[in-house]
Amino acid sequence: MGKHILAIDQGTTSSRVIIFNQEGKIVSFHQKEFKQYFPKPGYVLHDAEEIWESVVFCMEKALQKANLAYNDIDAIGITNQRETTVIWDKLTSKPLHKAICWQSSQTKEICDELIELDFQETFKTKTGLLINPYFSGTKIKWLLDNVKEARSLADNNQLAFGTIDSWIIWNLSKGKSHITDYSNASRTLIYNIHELKWDDELLNILTIPRTILPKVVDSSGISAYTDESLFAKKIPISGIAGDQQAALFGQTCFNPGDVKNTYGTGCFLLMNTGNTPKLSQNGLLTTIAWGINGEVEYALEGSIFVAGSAIQWLRDGLGIIETAQETEELARKTKSNLGVYFVPAFVGLGTPYWEEDARGSFFGLTRGVTKMHIVRSALEAICYQTKDVVNLMEKEANIKLSGLKVDGGASKNNFLMEFQSDILNCNISRPSINETTALGACYLAGIGIGLWKKEDVISKWIVDRTFKPNMTENKRNELYHNWQRALRACVAFADKKNY
Ligand code: ADP
Repeated sequence: MGKHILAIDQGTTSSRVIIFNQEGKIVSFHQKEFKQYFPKPGYVLHDAEEIWESVVFCMEKALQKANLAYNDIDAIGITNQRETTVIWDKLTSKPLHKAICWQSSQTKEICDELIELDFQETFKTKTGLLINPYFSGTKIKWLLDNVKEARSLADNNQLAFGTIDSWIIWNLSKGKSHITDYSNASRTLIYNIHELKWDDELLNILTIPRTILPKVVDSSGISAYTDESLFAKKIPISGIAGDQQAALFGQTCFNPGDVKNTYGTGCFLLMNTGNTPKLSQNGLLTTIAWGINGEVEYALEGSIFVAGSAIQWLRDGLGIIETAQETEELARKTKSNLGVYFVPAFVGLGTPYWEEDARGSFFGLTRGVTKMHIVRSALEAICYQTKDVVNLMEKEANIKLSGLKVDGGASKNNFLMEFQSDILNCNISRPSINETTALGACYLAGIGIGLWKKEDVISKWIVDRTFKPNMTENKRNELYHNWQRALRACVAFADKKNY
């Protein structure tokens, strides 16, 4: 029957399981949404047990759809929403609190205090990240400080911390393996990405006891097995990576300078920088792409918080469209944006601005503006924001972009991809398998059991469509110049003191 790899893609709003065959083709797929909890403004929580149940449910369904049994699965690969933080009791395997989602800004005060104490540079140099609620470190501290019993359990060596990969593997192995991989560890704000170890100084600053931390393992290679009581056999877990790093792997961005952009709720651009960690002076993050046989490769990362979610807002907030798909046709109905620029800073601005207080703004509205222009400006904004990040990456890595590989839900929009190619003035390649995140986990797991080599998976990457630039230099410069004016105006509005 050939080999099969089961990829678990545990995302922010849903869990998915995709079964791939030996050729790296999708055999079956199942997805289940789970509940989001917003108990207070800025808080975003998940129920870790519900996440685990949704994963098991998707595994069962995907197997049924493929007419396969656990016995037919040769390896499991896991990719996950990053930074989301769980603590649990090692004896009972029960979480002590809801998981704190990466989106949750509930630790802003802790972050402000650390910045006030002048720790920004220490964290940045060691972890490649910034002190920001986005990362796990301050979430762990919040849980230890706010959950009764957490510290006393930690004192008894009975407490475990994990990102979602650790939590899933803990459950799959029935508590035998408490591990995470290099890529996930590098998003916690407590992992030294140069020395490849949990950093004592950072742990001290955040008052996090070492005993609660998982062991850091390779992203590819057998690192754990499912417990025999769970399925018909012990299945090796041989691929683990955070979602954006898995997408980089799934896009086979294996060489320094290779870049992918995922167009989902937000946009995440990652550039492979090989075995050198490039530290950014201008708001890009430095992160571990993956670690194989103890050797890690690094990436530069730019995070755009609002991309596809601006389209959701047009649909659910403004109600001017019914589906995300129709934005393509609407945008094509108008030849230009009519001078309208939209900065969708609903939750502040990420790379390179890191302006938490910025808010969404429209510029250039006149009476001639219709919903077509509004829609077009929202799509264009995704492309301009991407250009902001690409410009910075090129400068900091000293590499000229030769092309961009794309994936994610919004990359299906051909207008968006054409405009992106025009604005960047480079080719855009969209692969035939859009599920690159799960594909990355599948490749890592397949390589991890010796089914493929890295070279084999390169030949499996098939392009669906290439978009080539078709815009004059003048036009491109004019549009981008206006975008930057809009952006500066939006940032100025965020400054309450000066105006
Ligand atoms: P995530 O994994 O972040 O939940 P997906 O990769 O599933 O996101 O992409 C969904 C996002 O893409 C949504 O925000 C949606 O509004 C947007 N989207 C989906 N299809 C289109 C489209 N054809 N044009 C523009 N945006 C789209």
